[in-house]
Amino acid sequence: FDLRNEDLKDLQELGQGNGGSVKKVEHTPTRTIMAKKIVLIDAKPSVRKQILRELQIMHDCHSPFIISFYGAFLSDPNVCMCIEFMDKGSLDGIYKKIGAIDIEIVSKVALAVLEGLTYLYDVHRIIHRDIKPSNILCNSQGQIKICDFGVSGELINSIADTFVGTSTYMSPERIQGAQYTVKSDVWSLGISLIELALGRFPFSESNPDDSDLSDFEGTLSPGTIGLPPKRKDKEKTSKKDKRKSKGVSLQGGGMMMSILELLQHIVNEPAPRLIPEGRFPKEAEDFVDSCLFKDPDARKTPKDLMKHPWIDLARTSTFDCEAWANTF
Ligand code: ATP
Ligand code: MG
Repeated sequence: FDLRNEDLKDLQELGQGNGGSVKKVEHTPTRTIMAKKIVLIDAKPSVRKQILRELQIMHDCHSPFIISFYGAFLSDPNVCMCIEFMDKGSLDGIYKKIGAIDIEIVSKVALAVLEGLTYLYDVHRIIHRDIKPSNILCNSQGQIKICDFGVSGELINSIADTFVGTSTYMSPERIQGAQYTVKSDVWSLGISLIELALGRFPFSESNPDDSDLSDFEGTLSPGTIGLPPKRKDKEKTSKKDKRKSKGVSLQGGGMMMSILELLQHIVNEPAPRLIPEGRFPKEAEDFVDSCLFKDPDARKTPKDLMKHPWIDLARTSTFDCEAWANTF
């Protein structure tokens, strides 16, 4: 493909992220349907060209668990990437539409993400860096694939410079500034799997025993640093309020919580689990627990986790993902 913007006809808006937007388009010369991701990069032309060069690695990524890549081009001031269109969208959209996802499908998601991560790391030494339900896509053939992995160091830098890229799927060691490793992706996978199985973001239920969290209204949704916190009791002042006076918070559904508190919570409190105990298969509980060891040394790599009994079950499961994907 020699992609040119003029050859791409917009068909539908698919979604907006923090760094840009995604549209369903048709490549008219070949009548190929694609997803076009437009990323606004506030950087020098030389940096944009460097990003484009680095993105070319995606041409060499071939796996059934990785979104395929058609090409990228510059469209001032944006970088555009054309990738495989997944007609059922991302898993966050799916669970928000149909509710909590059946644990057997969740096991297939775990298998697909581990396969994708292992391929990226073993073959290309790429760490994903942004595993979350919105970056796990599904199509009507029942395939599950990952997208938005960190192929371009320059792109990662530019987005970090331009946007506040703190994600709530971040592992404790990343929050504390440690080096990114493939095990940080495993943490993000664990959080994502709980979110899909419960049908809500795992840090969203205030624990009444935890005064730090119960100060806040309602639920917490995944997101990034956004508007100032909205407090239940606006008159209340405490040390905590002063600490939060920078006014960064999580955005989502109108309910907010200080991101600083959430990040502290991730670092200091026990990791979330599949709850209530006994609702899900033991193997699923154990798998999620092993993704969410707070100490990265104790946490396994994607490759090691492929040997987990729950993943064996996922591999041999006869559950029909295609039929499932056609129920919504
Ligand atoms: P963030 O910017 O925080 O990473 P995000 O992943 O939701 O959030 P984008 O990557 O810009 O943001 O994607 C926006 C939405 O577009 C996604 O939530 C997804 O539903 C949809 N989308 C992205 N890529 C595709 C694709 N290849 N096929 C179909 N839908 C897609
Ligand atoms: Mg994305």
